[in-house]
Amino acid sequence: MWKANCPTKIKHFIYRTANNIIPCQANLVRRGIEAAEFCWMCGQEVWETQEHLFMQCAWARAAWFQHPLGIRIDQVNLTFTEWLKEVCLNQSIDIAALIFQGVWAIWKARNDKLFNELSPDPISAINSNMNSLQDWREAQNSLNVEENTNPEVAWKALAGGKIKINIDAGWTGSNSTGFGFIARSHTGSLLVAGTHLECQRLDPLVAEASALRWSMMKACELEMDSVTFESDSLIVIRAMRADSSDWTIHNIIQDCQALAENFNSVSFSHVKRNANLPAHVLASVAIKYQDQLWWDYPPTEIEHPLFVDAAFS
Ligand SMILES: [Zn+2]
Repeated sequence: MWKANCPTKIKHFIYRTANNIIPCQANLVRRGIEAAEFCWMCGQEVWETQEHLFMQCAWARAAWFQHPLGIRIDQVNLTFTEWLKEVCLNQSIDIAALIFQGVWAIWKARNDKLFNELSPDPISAINSNMNSLQDWREAQNSLNVEENTNPEVAWKALAGGKIKINIDAGWTGSNSTGFGFIARSHTGSLLVAGTHLECQRLDPLVAEASALRWSMMKACELEMDSVTFESDSLIVIRAMRADSSDWTIHNIIQDCQALAENFNSVSFSHVKRNANLPAHVLASVAIKYQDQLWWDYPPTEIEHPLFVDAAFS
């Protein structure tokens, strides 16, 4: 639940519903506070329980129906928490966030009616909340991007036993594209380097995204489970962090996102070109080595860039 891609205040609210401690009328009565047997949203004389408020109330049902997921509530015998668990089961953190935002929208509309004497209609309540979730996500993404505007100039090893894999792609001739990757441990020592030759000239962006996909497949094969992938393509890294991407690489990014699920811990970051030199050189020599892996002794072409990285890290 804490992983859902939505603001913390909403997650806190969901947490409070799981413990049935939100101040709806029925809970107030339980705590010995006087409250009326009345629902402000539908005007019925019923106890305002979480179940009524979020599931049974006609207003809430209309709101869920208007929700982007078009949720219909049929399981009337479940508690609200049981129901919420069921709808969120096996959903991505983005879908879970949409559902949480829906719960929040209903609660906010209820408070608007109760305390501000507004009469929100379910359609606009849901729509405006989905827009604010979108705004929040965009703000989060721009935070990530801001992080990226000042990427490390020199290559740096990672702390905490994580493996860093630098990747790159480049044209190696008139009709081939090379990929290179190099995996180093948290101490900066070489674990494995590799090259791959694609026998077609790929568009630069497609090449960068394909190099990421290929490196992720290699890392999976080699059973590396805690990895940071570093690319000098800001567009590819941004696409991995956000939901949207350039249509030309959309399918490749989707493959990468599916591959990401094979790792215990995986992240993606952007580096300046000159902090990505060994991978860059590997991509350019792929025409010579084609498909190859190096474990102990890297190809001579990257000895110097490796040395430079080691000197600055
Ligand atoms: Zn009601």
